[in-house]
Amino acid sequence: PVILFWFRRDLRLDDNGGLYQALKNASASGLSVQPLFIFDTTILDALTSRADKRVVFIHQAIERLQKELVSFGSTLDVRHGEPLAVFKALMDEYDVQAVYANRDYEPDARARDKLIYDYLGTQGVAFRAFKDHVVFEKNEVMKADGQPYTVFTPYSKKWLSLLNDFYLRSYPTISYIEAVHRQAERPIPTLQQLQFEPMNVTFPTKMLDLGVLDVYAEQRDYPALSATSRLGVHLRFGTVSIRQVASYAQVRSSVFLNELIWRDFYQMILWHHPQLVNQSFKPIYDQIVWRNQSSDFSKWCAGQTGYPLVDAGMRELNETGFMHNRVRMVVASFLTKHLLIDWRWGERYFAQKLLDYDLAANNGGWQWAAGCGCDAAPYFRVFNPTLQMKKFDPNGDYVRRWLPEFGTKDYPEPMVEHGMARERCLQTYAQALKNN
Ligand code: FAD
Repeated sequence: PVILFWFRRDLRLDDNGGLYQALKNASASGLSVQPLFIFDTTILDALTSRADKRVVFIHQAIERLQKELVSFGSTLDVRHGEPLAVFKALMDEYDVQAVYANRDYEPDARARDKLIYDYLGTQGVAFRAFKDHVVFEKNEVMKADGQPYTVFTPYSKKWLSLLNDFYLRSYPTISYIEAVHRQAERPIPTLQQLQFEPMNVTFPTKMLDLGVLDVYAEQRDYPALSATSRLGVHLRFGTVSIRQVASYAQVRSSVFLNELIWRDFYQMILWHHPQLVNQSFKPIYDQIVWRNQSSDFSKWCAGQTGYPLVDAGMRELNETGFMHNRVRMVVASFLTKHLLIDWRWGERYFAQKLLDYDLAANNGGWQWAAGCGCDAAPYFRVFNPTLQMKKFDPNGDYVRRWLPEFGTKDYPEPMVEHGMARERCLQTYAQALKNN
């Protein structure tokens, strides 16, 4: 008899909350734990490109997990299909006592888990989910009146006041690893079998550079410097533990810790407000009459707006799957406010391209930039992309790195004049909000 442990956005053995519980409970009750990963066709089929760096990242992480598990005499069972159909097959192949996993807060993931929970229920099998992805989840950080926060600063104060060693303690998974189910190594489908292109990608290292934490507070806003952690993709897929990262942050950089609190904040917001996937947090902002010119959108996507900081950011994104946070704010503001294109268009484009794409953080970031989110930038604050460059890339180092034609005759004139665009934005927003 086995407990199946289903890996999702937690692709590591060490300090894995749900895996720890599975191994510990299995060893106490004479069971063993069979690790499982599903290449979920519902998710994979929806991806727009067959050359997707994230799938390559996951595949590499799975191969690493497999190596580790084989060294303990076990194997990862890797399936490819729709989770419900996969579980139906697994029930025939194993004597399943329970299924354990770590919680995922996205609406689609919750619907998927409910389906599996209900199916397993009909089989008399428990499905247990645990916190692993965040420091505080769901209702753990609430206002005095019992309601969830919608404003970041008081949320972060409460978050910090609740933090203690208990929440950052790592789970010593390896001490119960003996309870892992032993069987011969099972093959992992290749990328080609999954119908994705193998690609040669260099991913950011998962080792947190402590030197970065020392300069983070002063330098993190300058995109030409390597002064941020680049841990986004690892936190997204759980190849590092948030507890380990937050423990370092706690002793070395409160500014960095604050960013990790934003991450928890947006996960919490999405949990309480799943409608945000398609709706503005402040519904009145869905009255905005966007211009939505597809030719403007194409220029923005291609980094051909004539505003160097915007264009450099989009080129960096298109080439690498990464964009610096300051530049994300500038390009998002430019799309929504200068071009008056619906934030959902930009959000979808980022979702296709970002290596660290995460629904909660991306949706939060876009709604913040468009001014329609919880605790968003006020709508009348329209970033001036030229001044932003002067301030945050004063020598143009970042811009030249991604825009070799900058300063030559090949570089286009600004596609829209800043003063006019700003006025047009203010009027459009004011029109939508006038019945507020
Ligand atoms: P660091 O500055 O080193 O921060 C460490 C970690 O903290 C990040 O890896 C991330 O997990 C978390 N974090 C930092 N800033 C934020 C933030 N504002 N909100 C939530 N978490 C944060 N972040 C994503 O992880 N995925 C996204 O899809 C995403 N989309 C964004 C879209 C827009 C329009 C904006 C303005 C921001 C977005 N962010 C997103 C937040 C932020 O830009 C990235 O987390 C950060 O740039 C990633 O680089 P890093 O790992 O070097 O971050």
